Amino acid sequence: MQNNPSNHEMAMNKDELLQCILESDELPTLPTVASKLITLTSKEDTTLADIGELVSQDISLSAKILKVSNSAFYSFPQQIGSIKQAVSILGMNAVRSLVLSFSFLTMKAGKVESGFNFEKFWERSLASAVTAKLILENVKGADTEEVFVSGLLQNLGELILARSFPVEYDRVLQAIEDNQEDTFSAEEAVFGINHTLVGSEVAKRWGFPEVLLIPIQYHHHPDEYTGKNPAIRSTVRAVYLSELLVNILFSDKPEVYHKQFRKEAAKLLGLTSENIETILTQVHIKVKEAGIYFNLKIKTTKSVQEILQEANIRLSLINLDYDQMNKQLILAKVHLENLTQELEKKNSILDNLANIDGLTGVYNHRYFQNILDQEINRAERHNTSLSIILIDIDHFKKVNDTYGHQVGDFILTEFAKTIKEHIRQYDILARYGGEEFVVILPETNTEDALVVGEKLRSIIEQTPFQDNRETYHVTASFGQACSKPAVEDNFDKNGLINQADQALYEAKEKGRNRVVGYSLKKKWFAF
Ligand code: GH3
Ligand code: MG
Ligand code: MG
Repeated sequence: MQNNPSNHEMAMNKDELLQCILESDELPTLPTVASKLITLTSKEDTTLADIGELVSQDISLSAKILKVSNSAFYSFPQQIGSIKQAVSILGMNAVRSLVLSFSFLTMKAGKVESGFNFEKFWERSLASAVTAKLILENVKGADTEEVFVSGLLQNLGELILARSFPVEYDRVLQAIEDNQEDTFSAEEAVFGINHTLVGSEVAKRWGFPEVLLIPIQYHHHPDEYTGKNPAIRSTVRAVYLSELLVNILFSDKPEVYHKQFRKEAAKLLGLTSENIETILTQVHIKVKEAGIYFNLKIKTTKSVQEILQEANIRLSLINLDYDQMNKQLILAKVHLENLTQELEKKNSILDNLANIDGLTGVYNHRYFQNILDQEINRAERHNTSLSIILIDIDHFKKVNDTYGHQVGDFILTEFAKTIKEHIRQYDILARYGGEEFVVILPETNTEDALVVGEKLRSIIEQTPFQDNRETYHVTASFGQACSKPAVEDNFDKNGLINQADQALYEAKEKGRNRVVGYSLKKKWFAF
């Protein structure tokens, strides 16, 4: 028999409406394992082994439970290998919580299309569950075992109402959006009942124990719970607070809920401002982690601090008139531009650092390769010649051996400085590697380059390098090569470097402390 409550008139009284929901085809059924587990855990003589055996029957559920048991969600030091072990380590109630959590998280929309977003509903519910647990963890001596599933199921009634009366529930959603009403009042206005009653009645039908049922019933008005069970009382309060906290994360009035949360958390659970700070800084991380453990894609949320900062900026803009707002925006823009400029400056310093040799302060090999490419392109475009000179200090090993590496370093630095001081501004000096340097001479033919080489050679020969102990002299050998890339077939950068290297080798061979230019016919141009 088809029994679709949507066909009924809304002019039903509370009891008729509830009856209608409980008999509806759209009432979700508890998965078998969850349902049997509820029965089992309500019996006095149930053993841990019974629970283990029941849960093990559902392989995919068991796998999910093992995954969470071994995750940072519980952070047990030892590996939990079987459901039996999980039950004995986690305890009966925690396993029941997990079974219920997974059973509900997979519950989907009903047959009728509606504006109720089931995915978003479970996202928020999971966030509430994590949050409720986090809150109670900060209360001394509180029992945190059941609070997760209580937080998760607190709004079960919304889901049931939305499945049973999709058309009418769309009106609830509309009212929330239009009038900024809260869910509870909007449901009362449309149905005459609300999700706390529907949820707890259905949970009763499913045989839920009090500890799970009562928080569903009282989470909107924790003061109305007058029972004496302290664990249930603090669970009800934590679940109530969890909704406020989740509203900081997900609603568009975070600042309102933030204020309320702080006040109520202190009042209802005696949380200190230190406790509250801890909760507020951790909550977005915990929610994100839980999404992973329970296979739910949760839209990554910002931290509470970030959310409140943004809300603050929005509020300060709302209260300004048009002129003031314009002024503020201009100030913000100027500030941003200043920051950008500063950043660009820093970046260019960083870029430069990456191009500089750490010891000598002249350009490094990497930069030499890049700039040589550019210079070759330029020479090609302007049809000019380009020379390079490789410079290698003579018998430098002996310098190190005689005076030590530190003096070697000193001489390398002074050597580079001296060369740098005697080349043109647009010539480029780089450390080629070790005790070898290279100079790029743009727009310079062989003849002129050899003059430069000889000038440098002579200066080095005559320049004493002096530290606070001694005066040192070195000589160097120079290998020069030149090219006019525009007129050369198959011109190749490495070829040019290679030629300079051959010339340098020749200078060493001929006895060092001299300049040799490369010639195609192997008749060296020497000074
Ligand atoms: P040649 O005249 O044939 O060039 O002789 P050389 O001793 O200069 O040549 P060789 O290539 O045999 O040795 C180069 C020496 O340069 C060896 C190495 O210890 C030294 N050297 C290379 N880089 C550095 C450095 O950064 N600091 C110091 N102190 N020495 C270096
Ligand atoms: Mg060498
Ligand atoms: Mg050398």
